[in-house]
Amino acid sequence: MTEERTIFHKIRDKELPATIVFEDDDVLACKDIHPKAPLHLLFIPKHFVSSIADVTPETAHLPGMLILKAQRYAKEKGISGYKLTFHVGKGGGQEVPYLHLHLLSEQAL
Ligand code: AMP
Repeated sequence: MTEERTIFHKIRDKELPATIVFEDDDVLACKDIHPKAPLHLLFIPKHFVSSIADVTPETAHLPGMLILKAQRYAKEKGISGYKLTFHVGKGGGQEVPYLHLHLLSEQAL
């Protein structure tokens, strides 16, 4: 199956500029371009899955990994209160068909 290349493929592959705040071998986190809270980050796995709706037993570790990276990032930055959200499908508000976790906080960095 050929992947449709989304904005997040291009951010992941450094073809599109983004404010990257965290990166390791598995995950990239960047600022959302249209923030809906004082702090609005997106945690994106390097391995492509289009949505929570398409997660399989083989890729079921990815959402948990994103949550763990977001939790660690928040802890390191002293962010004590935040929301974590996955939008699923167009009806769930998902605009970009590449799995990502939103981290929103009233606490700016
Ligand atoms: P979703 O609606 O869950 O698919 O979230 C996609 C998010 O990506 C939205 O909150 C957008 O504001 C954000 N977004 C779109 N383009 C960019 C970009 N070039 N850099 C950073 N965030 C983006």
